[in-house]
Amino acid sequence: MTKECPIAQEAAALLARLGVDPAPEAGGRAVRSPISGSVIGHVADTGPEAVENAIAAAARAFAEWRRVPAPRRGEFVRLIGEELRAAKADLGRLVTLEVGKVPSEGEGEVQEMIDICDYAVGLSRQLQGLALPSERPDHRMMEQWHPAGVVAVITAFNFPVAVFSWNAALALVCGDPVIWKPSEKAPLTALAVRTLVARAAARFGGVPAGLVQVLPGGHDVGATLVDDGRVAVVSATGSTRMGRVVGQRVAARFGRAILELGGNNASIVTPSADLDLAVRAIAFGAMGTAGQRCTTLRRLFVHDAVYDALVPRLAKVYAGVTVGNPLEDGVLVGPLIDEAAGEAMSLAIAAARALGATVTGGEAVDVDGCAEACYRRPALVEMAEQVGPMLEETFAPILYVHRYHDLDTAIALQNAVAQGLSSSIFSNDLRETETFLSASGSDCGIANVNMGTSGAEIGGAFGGEKETGGGRESGSDAWKGYMRRMTSAINYGRDLPLAQGVRFDID
Ligand code: NAD
Repeated sequence: MTKECPIAQEAAALLARLGVDPAPEAGGRAVRSPISGSVIGHVADTGPEAVENAIAAAARAFAEWRRVPAPRRGEFVRLIGEELRAAKADLGRLVTLEVGKVPSEGEGEVQEMIDICDYAVGLSRQLQGLALPSERPDHRMMEQWHPAGVVAVITAFNFPVAVFSWNAALALVCGDPVIWKPSEKAPLTALAVRTLVARAAARFGGVPAGLVQVLPGGHDVGATLVDDGRVAVVSATGSTRMGRVVGQRVAARFGRAILELGGNNASIVTPSADLDLAVRAIAFGAMGTAGQRCTTLRRLFVHDAVYDALVPRLAKVYAGVTVGNPLEDGVLVGPLIDEAAGEAMSLAIAAARALGATVTGGEAVDVDGCAEACYRRPALVEMAEQVGPMLEETFAPILYVHRYHDLDTAIALQNAVAQGLSSSIFSNDLRETETFLSASGSDCGIANVNMGTSGAEIGGAFGGEKETGGGRESGSDAWKGYMRRMTSAINYGRDLPLAQGVRFDID
């Protein structure tokens, strides 16, 4: 670790306060802060034998944990929530140092973890099945939800801790052990969460060994979990490229996959839109988290009638937004995760220019003391047609803007991409908003009205269609993804009437 680097020093102090002993991790993969590019820690990859041991331990933990009453399992998650509350400032700050989010977003991510813990505690008393009418006399039918088994959680760098908790809080109350393979770009926050969970486990008492495990490492660690038949559910968050591999491998062994993959999210601005509100929502949706959210706004369809009122205003916001070191006050756009992300952004902008686009922003920004980091001014790219890079997710702050004349065409354009995560419409016309939300409207898993595409709450089911993977996490009935459904018919009579009136008289 570079002793003289203040970010490395702060990360070390935070890790110490959070109870992470960096010593055992020494000698492993270097972890760099995207803020300065400096090394802030080393984390060893998990070796094949340790992965095998972890899966075996989780399988043993399952045999115990599934027998613990669900509300009691909820008590463990409640304690995890308490530990997160106590550590919110430190963990949020570590998120900022490790992935470069501005501090309010770093802390917001931890708040999301707390929220899902609260949600899961209530859920632990509501894992309800149905009682169903039987067609046979003196019979009843019912449905029960039982724990599914070991859940592997593979996460992306951009929500290094929240996505774990969306899965783990539900999985734990559902009766499942969790093995977490964090992003290789953000293992320090994962180690910090591991210590908080361990504290909660110590307070709870009697948590089976191996109930929650964190296995830092790269693709290979994830791939071992994906291929192992003892892992009942693989919840994988990341690129569509990753999901295409993971989904097929889990399907090949008839496991269950929850896939949360890339998005290419769009908003439609109609003639009746409140433009003041739209400008704020678009700015946050497209530039927040430096364009590195799966729900980041990437495409904007603006009606002819408001194009000239809206787009120059947006261009002004883009030109004025403060890009820089997220540790400094007033900065709204921090760094990209690494140089490769910056290169992908430059390539996409060059491709758009070659197609005749008008580009505002997108250039590299020099930030004092951060020469080895990658800072870019967000880009507003006016496109005459939806072609080329506009059809793809570039994980950087590029907003493609396109005019439209009628809503049906705008909705068709919005849906004409491979991904189906998040979408929104800005309109005060009920016919337009209801059309957008109808079966012939947006084809995305998330469709909002008069707000942006990003910033989902934990109470709703989160996820998207098509190449976004089809998985759902977090609220609503997403918990069913972590359980298996059992349908039971019970005969309390003395006869054996067969279903559908079938006769089978053997005497
Ligand atoms: P990534 O696909 O490079 O990596 C994600 C995770 O998958 C990492 O932990 C990685 O080690 C693992 N992985 C990669 N290949 C694997 C394999 N073959 N087997 C098992 N594990 C494998 O993604 P990233 O760059 O970290 O994150 C950015 C991407 O994630 C974007 O596309 C973004 O849209 C997406 N994302 C989606 C959601 C969502 O909820 N839909 C949320 C956050 C991020």
